[in-house]
Amino acid sequence: MTSPVWHPFTQHGLGEPIPQVVRTEGAVLHTRDGRRFVDAISSWWVTTHGHCNPRIMAAIAAQAATMDQIIFAGWTHEPAETLARELVRITPEPLQHVFFSDSGSTSVEVALKMALGFWANRGEPRHRIVVMEHGYHGDTIGGMSVGARGVFNRPYQPLLFDVATIPFPEPGHAQATLDALEAHCRDEPAALLVEPLVLGAGGMKFYPASLLAEMAKICARHGVLFIADEVMTGWGRTGTLLACERAGVVPDILCLSKGLTGGAIPLAVTLATAPIFDAHVSADRARMFFHSSSYTANPIACAAANANLAIWRDEPVLDRIADLGDRQQDRLDRLAAHALIRNPRRLGTIVAAEIGDARSTYLDSMGPRLIAFARERGVLLRPLGNTVYVMPPYCIDDPDLDAIYDAITAFAEREPLMGDLFAF
Ligand SMILES: *Cc1c(COP(=O)(O)O)cnc(C)c1O
Repeated sequence: MTSPVWHPFTQHGLGEPIPQVVRTEGAVLHTRDGRRFVDAISSWWVTTHGHCNPRIMAAIAAQAATMDQIIFAGWTHEPAETLARELVRITPEPLQHVFFSDSGSTSVEVALKMALGFWANRGEPRHRIVVMEHGYHGDTIGGMSVGARGVFNRPYQPLLFDVATIPFPEPGHAQATLDALEAHCRDEPAALLVEPLVLGAGGMKFYPASLLAEMAKICARHGVLFIADEVMTGWGRTGTLLACERAGVVPDILCLSKGLTGGAIPLAVTLATAPIFDAHVSADRARMFFHSSSYTANPIACAAANANLAIWRDEPVLDRIADLGDRQQDRLDRLAAHALIRNPRRLGTIVAAEIGDARSTYLDSMGPRLIAFARERGVLLRPLGNTVYVMPPYCIDDPDLDAIYDAITAFAEREPLMGDLFAF
């Protein structure tokens, strides 16, 4: 019998294999048919310290034995209180308030509602959001509205709200980005929303920290709220706890999810400064922040996040990340020698490059061939169109890292240039 499961971002009409995972450990997935896969993409960017981290698993088990789930509107619990205090302590000082939700998308929805609520409650309603070209902020209607438009969301376009878009700062064209932001800021938008330093789903596109700092300055000058979506870049991916740190930037609103629980269980937070919280505080119930989801601040998820924070406190996580960066750089340098590899780049633990011809689009790209090729070699890769990237859990060892780069290298050596394909 075929499975009733409808998978995300999966074309069931192609009959591609869907391996069944039965056990995870460190940087490795084990499947029902006894195979072993290196998780080169941290299971879609969530797993930081490694799968089934013993400290996080123990925290989940202990919490599950005492309290499962409670209403969070008007009630509280120790795991959430501890987590909120700790998040405020480790993030920049102006971020003083923590709102819980359960996914990256919802953390962005919450950020947008906070920004609009801030302006509405001040009696200066503003609703326009400025975003960056190629951005990705989730697949809810709001998330799609502030993200790049394309084949992924074409059927839903009529429902998506208008945003102002600044161009992605391609090398040598940063001034155009800053000029566009300056121009949009004169129209008094509510906020700028960006992924700091790395546009993830948009193709692992990097831009310099100095530019992020310039953008934050322009926002501050015009009184436009600066929202940092660090759902992917947070928790050490770019080499520091937050990508904003590298630019010395303090956002007004900060979205975190994915690695918040070490990638073990869903949870998200949206942090805000005192002025944003205070704008919602009054004796008038009509000015409260109107947002909740059933599982807001689930105690088991909070316990997992507290264990993640304990790991960051007690263990040399940043050293581990720096070491993984160095070990990836060696392998990237070797990979970069191949004719088919274009624009090799690395920031922290994230490595990316384009493979093959610049003309192919997301859907006719080499992606599916590379996915299948790597799978045969026991490696889980999932390129974004022609962009192959490696973003492994921080605990990955050298043999497993070699398996990833060997698979990409073997593919690049075997793959004919797209131009040759057209010639045949
Ligand atoms: C993954 C991602 C999201 C969405 O997070 P989900 O947990 O999948 O809803 C939002 N923003 C960025 C930058 C992301 O990488």
